[in-house]
Amino acid sequence: MPELPEVETTRRGVAPHVERQKVTAVRVYDRRLRWPVPADLSQRLVGRTVDQVDRRSKYLLFRLGADTLIIHFGMTGSLQVFKKLPPKRPHDHIDLEFGNGIVLRYHDPRRFGAMLWFPGALPNHPLLASLGPEPFAREFDADYLYQAMRKRSAAIKLALMDSRVVVGVGNIYANESLFRAGIRPTRAANRVSRTRLARLVEATRETLTDAIAKGGSTLRDYVDSRGEPGYFQLDYYVYGREREPCRVCGARIRCLRLGGRSTTFCPTCQK
Ligand SMILES: [Zn+2]
Repeated sequence: MPELPEVETTRRGVAPHVERQKVTAVRVYDRRLRWPVPADLSQRLVGRTVDQVDRRSKYLLFRLGADTLIIHFGMTGSLQVFKKLPPKRPHDHIDLEFGNGIVLRYHDPRRFGAMLWFPGALPNHPLLASLGPEPFAREFDADYLYQAMRKRSAAIKLALMDSRVVVGVGNIYANESLFRAGIRPTRAANRVSRTRLARLVEATRETLTDAIAKGGSTLRDYVDSRGEPGYFQLDYYVYGREREPCRVCGARIRCLRLGGRSTTFCPTCQK
């Protein structure tokens, strides 16, 4: 599942090719994504100029004047940039063509992604209205997290993955951030001190920054690449390392299920 670093890397790969460019053609091959692609997408988009490509949580936002094209990648979606358009493959669902000849192609085998049109002020969109702050936003700080966690008796890992608390911290990055912060994932959110939450804010940013940096190294090959943008393989501390030795202390990494998700931690480093 593309997480925040993958979506941010896509944004950085796509933006320079389409910003200030006019949409010249829209081809929808299959409308059956998580929600149907609007039947009038072509009428909405053709002739309009993309001012800017933003990201909010795991949504890409193409700003066209006051309106927005919202793209979400679901489980398996990806957006590829072509100067020379190759033949269509299975699971290529949408092409957006621009005045400079660039084509953005949306590919999604499992079709849990979305491409939606939203006219008007974006925070009102039901998908975005209840989202918490971005992990890199100034408002995501120790005071904010302390206030948010005080009300929650759930395991801190589940609270950290709750998009109403902070967006974009999926399973991998929650595991890694909690390791870096030295916090046991099962600890009740409201039983973690403010000092340790301050460390968790930093650890979350560090983990995501490292992953985005890894993704940045793929940008060079972004155009005309048919490679699937998979996960950026970080040298994980705990994720996927059950029973392997902790990179810091050598203890065996443990694994349990929390909220149905694989949760790995070091029993010595994380309290
Ligand atoms: Zn350890």
